[in-house]
Amino acid sequence: MYDYLVVGSGLFGSVFACEAKKYGKKVLVIDKRPNIAGNVYTQEIEGINVHMYGAHIFHTNLKHVWEYVNQFSEFNRFTNSPVANYHGELYSLPFNMYTFNKMWGVVAPEEAAAKIEEQKSKAGITEPQNLEEQAISLVGTDIYEKLIKGYTEKQWGRPCNELPAFIIKRLPVRLTFDNNYFNALYQGIPIGGYTKMVANMLQDIEVQLNVDYLENKAELDQVATKVVYTGPIDAYFDYQLGALEYRSVRFENEILNKVNFQGNAAVNYTDSETPWTRIIEHKWFEFGKDKNGNDLPKTVISREYSSEWNVGDEPYYPVNDEKNSKLYEEYRSLSEKESQVIFGGRLGEYKYYDMDAVIDSALKLAEKELV
Ligand code: FAD
Ligand code: UDP
Repeated sequence: MYDYLVVGSGLFGSVFACEAKKYGKKVLVIDKRPNIAGNVYTQEIEGINVHMYGAHIFHTNLKHVWEYVNQFSEFNRFTNSPVANYHGELYSLPFNMYTFNKMWGVVAPEEAAAKIEEQKSKAGITEPQNLEEQAISLVGTDIYEKLIKGYTEKQWGRPCNELPAFIIKRLPVRLTFDNNYFNALYQGIPIGGYTKMVANMLQDIEVQLNVDYLENKAELDQVATKVVYTGPIDAYFDYQLGALEYRSVRFENEILNKVNFQGNAAVNYTDSETPWTRIIEHKWFEFGKDKNGNDLPKTVISREYSSEWNVGDEPYYPVNDEKNSKLYEEYRSLSEKESQVIFGGRLGEYKYYDMDAVIDSALKLAEKELV
C-alpha cells in the first residue's frame, strides 16, 4: 500500500514524488511510456543528448525553482537565440534591434520604434483582440507577415485572427541588441541531459514504466490512498464531455555525418510553404562537445512538424482558446468530485505551462499536501 500513486514521470510527477518521499511518504510512480521524464526526456545519440520530445531550454525568474533544479543537476550557460529563416533570409529572434536593422535598415532604437508605430497606426489597431492584431501592435506588419504569420499558422493550424493574443506575448520585443529569447534571470541546459536530472529526482523511488493508469485504473486505485494524475484530464473522464483540443508534433530525427548543419540550436522556418516549423540541431545546446569536452564529429537534427491532435496521438500543446478553456472548466468541475485524485501538470490542468511553472506548481502542491 502506497500513500501516493503518481501517474506520469514528467516534471510535475517527479517533483511531487521527490517531495513526498522527503516527507516520509511511500510513493509509486508509473508511466505509460517506456522511459521517465515525460516531455523533457533526452536520449544520448552519437554522444549528443537529443531532446526526444522537442527542444527544452530551462529558463526562470523564480530563484527557488532555479535552486531546486540545481540540486539535481548542474546547468550549463546556454542562452537561447533562435534564428528565423524566411525564404532564405535570416533574422535574429526574438524581435530586437538586429531584427529591425535587417528588416528595415534602421540603426537607432528611435527609428525602429517609429517604424513599428507607423505600421501599427496604418493598421488602425487600438485594442488588440486576437494574435494577429496583437502581433501587429507589437512589431508592425512587415515582421508579422515575414516572421509570425506563417510560423504561427503552421504551429497552431488556425488563422492568426482566431488565436488568443497571449500566445505572441510570450516573445520579448526589445529596442536593444539583445537576442536572448527569454526575459529570465536564470537559464541553461542540465549538463548530462534532462533524463539524468529527473532520474536524480526519482532516486530511491519505485517507478514502473509501460503501465497505463487508465487501462488498469480499478486495480491501481487499490494500491494507494491518493492519486496524483498528470495525464490529460479529458482522457481521465473518458472524453465524456468531448475531447479537448491539443496540437501534436511529429519529430523527424536524422543523424548527419557532418560537424555543423545550421550553426545554431534552433532555426525557425517562418514561411508558410516549408512544411516543418523548425529544425533543432541538438549538439549546440552543449556547445558541440561530448561529455568529455571533445568536439563531436557528427550531428543530430530534428525537423518538427506540427499537426492537429487526434485521440491516440501524443498531446503536446493545449489549445487555450475560449472554446477549449470553457470545456476545460467543465472537466475541472468534474475533477473536484474525485476526492482522492489530484490533477496536475500541463495535461492534468490543460495549461500552457513552461518547465519552471510546472515545477513551481508541483512544489506548491507538495507544500499544501505534505507540510
Ligand atoms: P509531461 O512531461 O507531459 O508528463 C506527463 C507524463 O504522464 C508523461 O510521461 C506521460 O507518458 C504520462 N502519462 C500520461 N497519461 C498517462 C497514463 N494514462 N498512464 C501513465 N502515464 C501517463 N518548457 C520550457 O520551460 N522551456 C522549453 O523550451 C519548452 N519547450 C517545449 C517544447 C515542446 C515541443 C513542448 C510540447 C513543451 C515545451 N515546454 C518547454 C513545456 C514543458 O515540456 C512542460 O512544461 C513540462 O514538460 C510539463 O511537465 P508535466 O509533468 O506536466 O507533463
Ligand atoms: N512565434 C512566431 N515566430 C517564431 C517563433 C514564435 O510567430 O519564429 C510565435 C508562435 O505563435 C508561437 C509563439 O510565438 O506559438 C510563442 O513562441 P514560443 O517559442 O514561446 O513557443 P513554444 O514552442 O515555446 O511553445
